[in-house]
Amino acid sequence: MRLKDKVAIITGAGRGIGQATALKFAREGAKVMVADIKQEWIDETVQMCKAAGGEAIGQIADVRDMKSLESMVKATVDKWGRVDCLVNNAGIVADAQLKNMTEDQFDRVIDINLKGVYNCTKAVVHKMLEQQSGVILNASSIVGLYGNFGQTNYAAAKFGVIGMAKTWARELGRKGIRSNAVCPGFISTPILGTIPEKVIHALEERVPMGRLGKPEEIANTFAFLASDEASYINGAVIEVNGGLTI
Ligand code: NAP
Repeated sequence: MRLKDKVAIITGAGRGIGQATALKFAREGAKVMVADIKQEWIDETVQMCKAAGGEAIGQIADVRDMKSLESMVKATVDKWGRVDCLVNNAGIVADAQLKNMTEDQFDRVIDINLKGVYNCTKAVVHKMLEQQSGVILNASSIVGLYGNFGQTNYAAAKFGVIGMAKTWARELGRKGIRSNAVCPGFISTPILGTIPEKVIHALEERVPMGRLGKPEEIANTFAFLASDEASYINGAVIEVNGGLTI
């Protein structure tokens, strides 16, 4: 098992990519803190991890709320004594063309997708520094590399988390802490729920592999990056998109 006895915190782990990541980590032997904002989804993910033979606990943690994040880290450390990996996965969309985008749409996406990543990492970094080890993984997006129509706010945040991953790779590398960003293409999760079927088909057509990605395919990437097999991967930005951007 790739992640045997490693302790991981995964934000937004109630569904989608986060849930698949929690399950993958649990299957690979990790002890998982399932963090999200809805108790029923947290419970579902924890049950899935346990049913797969893994160890997991869950807690409500809003990435905008430092107190809830400190409590999430404390609960993890109280239970397992350490934090080996933080997956900054929680994210939302609130799309509109620039001319129509409201301040609220811009601020909500920046608060969760950008500042939320800063908040979570800030809450965890002291423990990782004390341990002199750890892995920080930021969920970015191909939109964080290339931009996207109707996603000024999302693009700003996803470019930003790449910048933070690289900055932390430089700041923390000598302390035994690695930091990387993953850029999924179009992955079949609830976040795509507002996109009309017709547009989904058009997206699939654009992918050389002819299909959307599965949450498990991003989860596998996070699991590899969290493992010791990725021990020299630091400051990397890894695209997982079926060839969409070539
Ligand atoms: P998802 O299915 O919507 O899951 C995201 C999870 O984060 C949800 O459970 C969501 O809860 C939770 N969340 C929302 N606001 C939060 C907050 N303030 N604090 C903590 N958790 C919060 O999305 P996904 O598709 O799995 O995406 C996961 C990550 O991958 C995101 O960062 C996303 O931007 C990125 N990504 C996704 C795709 C894709 O095509 N799916 C592509 C590129 C990048 P609610 O449902 O209640 O909001």
